[in-house]
Amino acid sequence: MTQRTPYIGRFAPSPTGPLHIGSLVAAMASYLDAKVHHGQWLVRIEDVDGDRNVAGADQHILASLQRCGMHWDGDVTWQSQRTGLYEQALRQLGELIYPCGCSRKEIADSQLSLTGRQAQALIYPGTCRHGLAPGKSARALRLKVPQSPHCVLHFDDRWAGPVSQDLTDDVGDFVVKRADGFWAYQLAVVVDDGDQGITDIVRGADLLDSTPRQLYLQQVLKLPRPAYLHVPVVVNELGEKLSKQTGAQAFDHGAEPQQLLQDALQPAARFLGMDVRADSIAAFWQAAVPAWVQVLRNLPNPG
Ligand code: GLU
Repeated sequence: MTQRTPYIGRFAPSPTGPLHIGSLVAAMASYLDAKVHHGQWLVRIEDVDGDRNVAGADQHILASLQRCGMHWDGDVTWQSQRTGLYEQALRQLGELIYPCGCSRKEIADSQLSLTGRQAQALIYPGTCRHGLAPGKSARALRLKVPQSPHCVLHFDDRWAGPVSQDLTDDVGDFVVKRADGFWAYQLAVVVDDGDQGITDIVRGADLLDSTPRQLYLQQVLKLPRPAYLHVPVVVNELGEKLSKQTGAQAFDHGAEPQQLLQDALQPAARFLGMDVRADSIAAFWQAAVPAWVQVLRNLPNPG
């Protein structure tokens, strides 16, 4: 493993509900990767999507991280308090931005991720690229993606290996500000990662196919490209990613640390391929750091 300094990682939960085992896996991987690289680990609450926020979920998530022994560096940030930065980025994007009056797609493609056939269905055909179609009024703001030559982005994910996506064919011009007035995840995440000097992004594989849009935004905003590691996502018995919508259960009900170890920390570690035996939370993290080094040794690109 090469030592990159200074490493700055982050965990960026959306406050849509309490932590569940799936979100703990992403938190644990990003926390351990920061520890192994002697880096900082920041926490940013991604509350940019006002419709999905659940009152009090941010504080519940932060309290659970603390109870699990995952202490962050610096101050927690909230995206809702950083909208000035997103405005500034929009101004910087200038001519690449255009208003779009199309009704359905601008909502859908500002969502977190697109996969397979779903992605195909959501490719924006460029209807408003050269001006609003007659009778339409501006709703969302879109970012132009180069058409010729095609905009093909490649990156080498530390877990998944080489990934590439043709943004022109597979995504099209995408939304940076939504019709409902909320900032799109893609813009906010890139601006914040850039502003906070994030060098390493460790998160769930459901965001793998959002990454090329983020690489493109980094290019046009002249921001450095971080390294990426996308860990597998925990799925339910129907094969769906665990989330509030798919019925994920909170694990932290204020129980004893022993319970947190057995019901959450050790299962999350096992999911990531680590067998971490410990009888206290402090001992768990002490053993988990070298266990993560072993996990990294088996990756295509240990980083
Ligand atoms: N806020 C996103 C989520 O909760 C994660 C975004 C990211 O890590 O880039 O799924």
